[in-house]
Amino acid sequence: MKNPGNVESSEPNYDRQSMVESQLKTRGIRDERVLKAMATVPRELFVQEGHRKQAYADCALPIEHEQTISQPFTVACMCQALGLTGNETVLDVGTGSGYAAAVLSCLAAKVFTIERIPELAATASDRLQQNGFSNVVVTTGDGTRGWPEHAPYDAIVVAAGGCDLPPPYVEQLRESGRIVMPLGRDNSRQNMVRFQKNNGTITREHLGTFVFVPLIGDFGWAANSP
Ligand code: SAH
Repeated sequence: MKNPGNVESSEPNYDRQSMVESQLKTRGIRDERVLKAMATVPRELFVQEGHRKQAYADCALPIEHEQTISQPFTVACMCQALGLTGNETVLDVGTGSGYAAAVLSCLAAKVFTIERIPELAATASDRLQQNGFSNVVVTTGDGTRGWPEHAPYDAIVVAAGGCDLPPPYVEQLRESGRIVMPLGRDNSRQNMVRFQKNNGTITREHLGTFVFVPLIGDFGWAANSP
């Protein structure tokens, strides 16, 4: 679409590169593969039309059904914490716009992503297929139960804040695999935690405070919790 005179929206490549420099490199994102993926995926494809100009802004943005597309730094931070090398099978819980799944698709061999809101899952699936992210499979369902059919996963990443680590994730995670997931009771602030499975034991490490929408499901919050 032509947008004469509007530098921000007519030069997305420039905005993307400057987002990588100013929001990611300066805040400790050092994994070259993550930086490259973030510099490659066109975030403007995943935001609502009215927010295209803010596609590379340093914040989360609203998407349909009162959900959000995560802040670029949050996506980069979670991807870096997974330590992907390119051969992995990843489960992405909370597809939302599909943006994080698209970034993960550049970092892993196969991405399975699950979203509880059917309309979001359908839109994200079309978007990902139409834009060549062919190693991503989207489904609708309660992602707190994981997606047993494609397990075991080398990595599981959760884009919504839960109350505790859902037991199905531990069962569906490969030995030495990692889970990155926000946890916390406060709806406006969660601790991002990295779990690692070693000899069947789960260790946890705190990565910082972030803001996520709630993870709603059998092993998450109830849909009507405050
Ligand atoms: N990764 C997304 C972020 C979306 S926000 C992106 O890049 O745009 C988190 C999403 O998690 C929301 O769309 C919400 O509907 C979804 N969600 C919440 N609980 C869920 C559950 N139990 N299973 C699957 N998706 C869930």
